[in-house]
Amino acid sequence: MMELVYKFLRLAARKTSRSMLPPLDESIISFGFDDCPASAIETALPMLEAEGWRATIYVSCGLCETENHLGRHMSLSDIVDVHEKDHEIADHTFSHVSSKDVSLSKYLADIEKNQKTLKKLGLPDSRHFAFPYGHMTPALKNALRSRFKTLRGVVCSNRTSQDANLLEAVRVYSGESIEKALEQVEFAKTNPQWLNLFTHDVRDNPSDFGCTPEEFLKVVKAVRESGLRVMTVDDAYRTIDKRRQTS
Ligand SMILES: [Zn+2]
Repeated sequence: MMELVYKFLRLAARKTSRSMLPPLDESIISFGFDDCPASAIETALPMLEAEGWRATIYVSCGLCETENHLGRHMSLSDIVDVHEKDHEIADHTFSHVSSKDVSLSKYLADIEKNQKTLKKLGLPDSRHFAFPYGHMTPALKNALRSRFKTLRGVVCSNRTSQDANLLEAVRVYSGESIEKALEQVEFAKTNPQWLNLFTHDVRDNPSDFGCTPEEFLKVVKAVRESGLRVMTVDDAYRTIDKRRQTS
């Protein structure tokens, strides 16, 4: 797909198939991990568990046990272990595809392949989804709006009211992004919002899409000190949706 056409579609997708979530009285923070880097579960999840928190892992089962710029990826049995520790397993397509590269029907089939793989492992259907690379089109957003409860992107424009079909997300990436994430946590203390923090690998010498264990811990400490509630994406969604039904 031509870059310019794609840019237009991506912008158009922001405005279509919206499902606005009600405003909150108090912020909720969710931690998300995309793809399945082993370092995320080996290093970052124990830091969250030590606080009594659980995260949402957006898995692409096709990446399991492969190695790429994010390092080694977890195995299918790791996914089961993570699920058994009460973390949430969400969908990120099987092959980590971009809506730029494949047709809508291929994209949807890839999601079903991911879900089938999770089902074979004994896991429930995923209720939440994150667009790989944040790439989406109006047709894709529309096709997934009834398939999942929320669809997550990779950018944050600081809106207090959010579209469940394109959740905003704040990067916990090495360097400047860490400072921005810390600022966002601070901002959330006085500006009620659902703050979705996300990253990939958490290790020394991380990729451009991850951070070091020290940086991750800094964010964990800031969240702890904020006193705000931390929930998986699904628990946060259920809490917010209850407000939607009663308001
Ligand atoms: Zn991804």
